[in-house]
Amino acid sequence: MLGLMQDQPLLISSLIEFAELHHGDAEIVSRRVEGDIHRSNWKEVAARSRQVANALEAEQLLFSDRIATLAWNGYRHLELYYGVSGSGHVLHTINPRLHPDQIAWIANHAEDQILCFDINFLPLVQAVHARCPTVRKWVALCDADRLPADSGIPNLVSYESWIGAQSTDYAWPTFDENSASSMCYTSGTTGNPKAALYSHRSTLLHAYAAALPDVMCISARDSVLPVVPMFHVNAWGIPYSAALVGAKVVFPGSALDGKSVYDLIESEQVSFAAGVPTVWQMLLGHLQANHLKFSTLKRTVIGGSACPPAMINAFQEQYGVEVLHAWGMTEMSPLGTLCTLKNKHLTLPPEAQTAIRMKQGRAIFGVDMKVVDGDGKRLPWDGKTSGDLLVKGPWVVKEYFKGEGGDPLIADEEGRGWFPTGDVATIDEDGFLQITDRSKDVIKSGGEWISSIDIENIAVAHPAIAMAACIGVAHPKWDERPIVAVVKKPGAEVSRDELLAFYQGKTAKWQIPDDVVFVEAIPLGATGKILKTRLREQLRDYRLPGV
Ligand code: AMP
Repeated sequence: MLGLMQDQPLLISSLIEFAELHHGDAEIVSRRVEGDIHRSNWKEVAARSRQVANALEAEQLLFSDRIATLAWNGYRHLELYYGVSGSGHVLHTINPRLHPDQIAWIANHAEDQILCFDINFLPLVQAVHARCPTVRKWVALCDADRLPADSGIPNLVSYESWIGAQSTDYAWPTFDENSASSMCYTSGTTGNPKAALYSHRSTLLHAYAAALPDVMCISARDSVLPVVPMFHVNAWGIPYSAALVGAKVVFPGSALDGKSVYDLIESEQVSFAAGVPTVWQMLLGHLQANHLKFSTLKRTVIGGSACPPAMINAFQEQYGVEVLHAWGMTEMSPLGTLCTLKNKHLTLPPEAQTAIRMKQGRAIFGVDMKVVDGDGKRLPWDGKTSGDLLVKGPWVVKEYFKGEGGDPLIADEEGRGWFPTGDVATIDEDGFLQITDRSKDVIKSGGEWISSIDIENIAVAHPAIAMAACIGVAHPKWDERPIVAVVKKPGAEVSRDELLAFYQGKTAKWQIPDDVVFVEAIPLGATGKILKTRLREQLRDYRLPGV
């Protein structure tokens, strides 16, 4: 017997309809890339996202066609979030920090039809547009009068003239809630980048979960500042959760330095903010240097990389801001765990509470997790035994876009598929997860991935290099920085600086290794694979120059 409740698909359009109807006057404030502060609200965002939907209709696109963005956090990006997905298209948020070659590759792989970009990314678009044959229209996110006359980009329009001609009347279509809504590429541990393809259903379930009291605890009384970019897993789902609860949203644009973020927090009475540790380090540095305090900030969710204990303490003790340490992945929409204390922890001494807060937290309802040994056997939740972390749930990927990389899931004894996170972790008796290591071969610097494979491939393309292995080493500001260990070909010569210069132009500047270590041999396993664990062990005493 089926239940007799209404069968209403969970669609992203319902979020914006709700926010408009119930929280229409809640503000959406953006620091624009033009430099000024722009004020809007959910009602206006809703009307303009319907104009976006009408503009897309006029382009005669197919259902699920991809519309890309190269944009910072701002109201126009938010309108695209709703206008694109709500009308049955797929929003593809591209990371503008990538090298133009990677951006062109990703746009082609996604078969993007329209690409919308912040005007300050014009040079980037000029560098890639000729290599993106699927893109039929380029939309600069600016007013018509800011559009450069001689950009050299065919079919370039300004966003305001593109949507300005459209009606604000539009009836959001109804379709299967499992339809694709947005996508985000993540750096491949092997081969090319792979895309997580989110659905309307997964996005809504994640939005509900993210807003819960023991998760981000966002409500209509909050002023929310997502410093985490909208091209990083949909700004951790905040643009959706904020609509679901009717919160005020404050977008920082491209100004992520400590002063700009602090000024925005104070002027917009931000109560909740989200970002990676590197950005918060800049914010804390600004506060400390200028003897400032927060007057409204209550909570901050910090994730993407491990949050240093000193940062948790500084926020809590010096500034009275609760740190919510979070762990997740692009493949998980992204939230997996979040660290909020249980009732019984509240009477513990401060040091014991900090020790818990340093963990990545407990699972959110909707995410199943387990740690397993090398044979796939479940390990105990004792806070000591570490193993490979596997997850499953309705907002976890089951496959990458276009089946890239094959079936990623691992079946358990009952044949249920688990996603291997590539993280190594312990789980304690209370279900608190602690990431202890990473088995995947990538480096995370300032919250952004660097593919060690790309770094190695460039090194071995140099005529003097026989073999290369890239590893991450600890860095106080960026968390990790890459270095490359190389073996020279017999009789060949190349200096450290020559090799580093060889990287110029071949990868994004921030992805270039910080140092080169010349070694006699690189440790290899039985199958000829580089043993990174052994190499890390060998370079245990290595320190980055100047750190
Ligand atoms: P991304 O797909 O870019 O969101 O990266 C996800 C990966 O970042 C995870 O698999 C972890 O390796 C790492 N990560 C995310 N959050 C944390 C955290 N709080 N502590 C340690 N590592 C983290």
